Amino acid sequence: MSVLDLARPELRTLQPYSSARMEASGGQIMLNANESAWEPTGEAGAGCNRYPDPQPQPLLQALANLYGVQAEQLFVGRGSDEAIDLLVRAFCRAGQDAIVIQPPTFGMYAVCARIQNAAVIEAPLAEDFSLDIPALLAAVTPAVKLVFLCTPNNPSGRSISCADIEQVAQALADKALLVVDEAYIEFSDQPSAIGLIARYEHIAVLRTLSKAWALAGARIGSLVANSEVIALIRRIMPPYPLPLPCVAAALAALSLPGQAAARAHIAIVREQRAFMRRSLVALPGVRAVLPSDANFLAVRFDDAAAVYQRLLQAGIVVRDVRRYPKLQDALRITIGTPDENAKVLAILEHMTADDRRAADGSV
Ligand code: PMP
Repeated sequence: MSVLDLARPELRTLQPYSSARMEASGGQIMLNANESAWEPTGEAGAGCNRYPDPQPQPLLQALANLYGVQAEQLFVGRGSDEAIDLLVRAFCRAGQDAIVIQPPTFGMYAVCARIQNAAVIEAPLAEDFSLDIPALLAAVTPAVKLVFLCTPNNPSGRSISCADIEQVAQALADKALLVVDEAYIEFSDQPSAIGLIARYEHIAVLRTLSKAWALAGARIGSLVANSEVIALIRRIMPPYPLPLPCVAAALAALSLPGQAAARAHIAIVREQRAFMRRSLVALPGVRAVLPSDANFLAVRFDDAAAVYQRLLQAGIVVRDVRRYPKLQDALRITIGTPDENAKVLAILEHMTADDRRAADGSV
């Protein structure tokens, strides 16, 4: 059985859209795409009168080098969000198929599945936010086409070991595609599951430039997988997913100076994460700080609503994650600059028990 047997059968015979830029590029006079012959006003738009390359080779190659794979094993799109959506659409038949997720986890897996009218089966993480492998495997019915693992997990911050990922992959062979979301892996000590792709054709890994590479605004994310899965995703991708200025920003970020900057910022985040964790657990009103391998901390408070409001009054916005199971008393705080982090601590330090009650009354 090939991993493509898990995909929607009608897509195998789909005639993909053939864009003008795919059919021909590089001529001196380009009159095949109904573009404007004139560049737009303003430096930011230089070259934008032309449609961009759907999968630009220099960016594919730079990302393939970064992740240690071949360019044909990588799809690059508008953030890993787009890759999640395309995976669900490629593998799940509306009204018939399903995905498995482990709540509390990143919301887009379920949202994309619901948009596609695929069922969402929940196999919750264990109490300590580790992967509950027996529960996960028990949730895999014949309708399940995709199993999502998020490591480090958003919003808990905990990682899954490569050995556990491999154990799940072994159990899912010929049953479902295992999608490992590594949006935050650069902040962790765990090795990437990309190393497993050569041995398991049914593993796909999501990576992004939105976090460690400081490019959330450029929307550049990758799907790394078996080349047949990538070819299928490319057949259903939108005609021109990657805006020209975003590709230029990504290439600059992946240059040698860009890599040095990313490494330096990752080191600061890791050091500040440890500092914030130590400092936060010592504060009154803080029940616990979950161990995190990502660039954020999930923090349990006696009164998370009051803390949220107090930070907001000071112009500091954190994420209220109380709607997630097992996190009903928690806020998720991204690690900022040392200065920003110090401001968070200063506000929490001054938030006495009385203040907390007063802030609560003002909600
Ligand atoms: N996966 C996880 C776990 C995330 O937290 C996020 C963004 N918050 C994404 C994927 C999407 O990232 P992007 O689309 O910016 O690549």
